[in-house]
This record gives sequence, C-alpha cells and structure tokens, in this order.
Amino acid sequence: REESCSKIEDAIQNIDFKGNFADCNMYGNGHINDTFVVRYTQEDGSILRYILQRINHEVFKDPVGLMENVAGVTEFLRNKILENNGNADGETINLIKTKDGKNFYQDSIESYWRGYRFIEDAACYDKVEKPDDFYQSALAFGHFQNQLSDYPAETLHETIKDFHNTPDRFMRFKKALEEDILGRAKNIQEEIRFVLDREQDTHILMDLYKKGEMPLRVTHNDTKLNNIMIDNKTGKAICVIDLDTVMSGFAVNDFGDSIRFGASTGAEDEKDLSKVNFDLGLYELYTKGFLEGCNGSLTDVELDMLPVGAKIMTLECGIRFLTDYLQGDTYFKIHREGHNLDRCRTQFKLVSDMEKQWDAMYEIVNKYR
Ligand code: ADP
Ligand code: MG
Ligand code: MG
Repeated sequence: REESCSKIEDAIQNIDFKGNFADCNMYGNGHINDTFVVRYTQEDGSILRYILQRINHEVFKDPVGLMENVAGVTEFLRNKILENNGNADGETINLIKTKDGKNFYQDSIESYWRGYRFIEDAACYDKVEKPDDFYQSALAFGHFQNQLSDYPAETLHETIKDFHNTPDRFMRFKKALEEDILGRAKNIQEEIRFVLDREQDTHILMDLYKKGEMPLRVTHNDTKLNNIMIDNKTGKAICVIDLDTVMSGFAVNDFGDSIRFGASTGAEDEKDLSKVNFDLGLYELYTKGFLEGCNGSLTDVELDMLPVGAKIMTLECGIRFLTDYLQGDTYFKIHREGHNLDRCRTQFKLVSDMEKQWDAMYEIVNKYR
C-alpha cells in the first residue's frame, strides 16, 4: 500500500497539473483502471479537479500504443471542437501531458499513469434508468463517429489483436470444439449447431471490407452507457470517455455492441431465457440517436449493415462465451458452474429474436437514415 501511495505521489509530481496540490482520492465506478480524483488549489483560491488513472497493464498489454491512440484521438477531437466553435471546454476528454511533454508517466514498477481534465457537473451512469439515457449514449457515440470520420483510422495501433475479427473468432471456436479438452461438447450440441449454422454470417462484414466496400473507422469498442458523461443539469450527453479500446474497425460493430447489451431486456447471464428478449423499441431509440449523431457520415453500405452489426456482435459475443466454456473457463471470470454457457445462451436468444424481427430492423434504419 505504501509503495502504491508513493507511486501516486510520483505520478502527481510528473503530470502537468496546474496549481497547488490539495488532495487525491479514489474515484468512480470503472472496472478496468484505477481512477483517482486530484484536487488543486488555484491562485484565486478556487479548486481545479483532475482525473488521474493508472492504466490496467494486465488487461492492456501495449500501454504505449494505447496512449498513442488516446493522445491522437483526443487531440484530434479537441482541434475539431476548436475549429467548430472556438471552445474546447467540457466537450471532449482532454489529456494532460507530463511536465516533459509525454502522454503518460511510467513509474519504476512499470505502472503507466495519465491525467485528464475533470469534466465537471456531469456523471456516468451504470444502468439505463430511463430510455432517454440510452438515446443520449446513442447520440454521443454517433457524434463521436461523426467527429472522427476524417481521422486516419489506419494509423491507430491494434492494441487488442483481432478484437472484432469475427471469422477468426469462429475459427478459434472450431479449434476449441475439435480439441474439446473437457469433453463438454456432447452436452451442448444445440449451442454448437447454432454457431455452425451461422458460419456465413461471421464473414459478411470482413468480406465487404476486403472488397473495399466497408470503410475502416475509428471505433470505441466499449460503447457502454457508463462511458458517456451526462450533464447533471440538462440530462444531455456531453462526451464520450474511456478511450482505452479505441482502434480501427467497423462503425457498425460499435453500433452493434451497444445494441447487444442495451436492447436486451435481461442480464447478460440470465438463466431464465424467457426474461431475455430483444427490445425493438430500444433498438429504434438507439438507431435514431446514433444516426442523428452520425449526421450523414456513414456510407450507404454501412447504413445497410447496421442490423448485421447488431446481430454479428451478439453472435460473436456468444461464440466467445461458448469457446471459453469449451476451453474450461479460462478467459471470462465465472461465478458459478456453467456461467459461460448461460451467458452464451442469452446471446443466442437475442440473435434468434433479431432474426425473427429482421425486416423490422431494416425498416427502422431506413426510417432514420
Ligand atoms: P475504466 O476503463 O476503468 O472504466 P474510465 O476511463 O471509464 O475507466 O473511468 C472510470 C470512471 O472515472 C468513469 O466511469 C467516470 O465516472 C470517471 N471519469 C473518467 N474520466 C473522467 C473525466 N475526464 N472527468 C470526470 N470523470 C471521469
Ligand atoms: Mg469506463
Ligand atoms: Mg475502460
């Protein structure tokens, strides 16, 4: 503990926070990084707050590449906002460099630290309390896509290799199935069939990409509600945060992942599948917000592929749970026997629901495009 406190002090001293240090406390509900709020007294006696984060080095194996991505995207967003309305406050996440001009501070025990301006008068919500929250997140992620539509996405580091390479996820599943190290395959034939029947689907987006019809975009890859700051007074989204997983990818996958967890009526690991339904109303709300946010920056092919993105992200997630189940639950933390199998079943239930409402999903895109 003492060791870690002294490292916090080191980081504070090295990052270019302005004013006189007042105090530092743990902050927020993030699940990945260690987040602190640091307070600084300014000359006029006012207090300025900053976010200090220790990057989770276990999860993110390439913190240097990650921080290059974060710095590139945040600087680009700030310049875009300056161009548009001459005011960079509050509307994007601002990285604070170290005193020697670096994007992060690396301490002597190989921890990586970074600072951000604190976005005041705003909050992050863990749960969708009202539909408008979900709509606000759609607007923000759409806007994010729009602002970054002319960013050179191919320059971003692939910090998590093959993250949404769905054909590759399928191959890894097939390999786990062939090996079947725990002999679990015999009890899950229905789930296995479900995946094998949809091999074609896993290729759709990658094939379009290879034909040059699906553009590479800046994607966020963690498009949860609690990665959006919502204004305390107006209830409106201010900006997207948590850019650790920013990489190049397909816009429809970011959209799809939001739908996957946001338009389900049940928890990701619900055992009672009658409680897990794909909510077309929530899908419509998100689609509306996302397309408003994108404001014309998506191509026709991308728009056509939004329902596919929703289905493929859900299928891919289910495949990952099933693969982990076959491999002995080594990747996703489990809290009960068969936990990964339960998780995979909720995803496949949602995929089935989407397939049943396929035409309606397209019509909704067409209504707002
Ligand atoms: P994690 O990857 O651990 O989720 P986040 O970057 O999402 O880390 O940060 C964790 C929490 O810290 C957020 O949910 C939010 O409440 C708070 N937070 C992060 N950045 C800022 C910021 N610039 N201003 C205010 N609060 C922030
Ligand atoms: Mg977060
Ligand atoms: Mg994160």
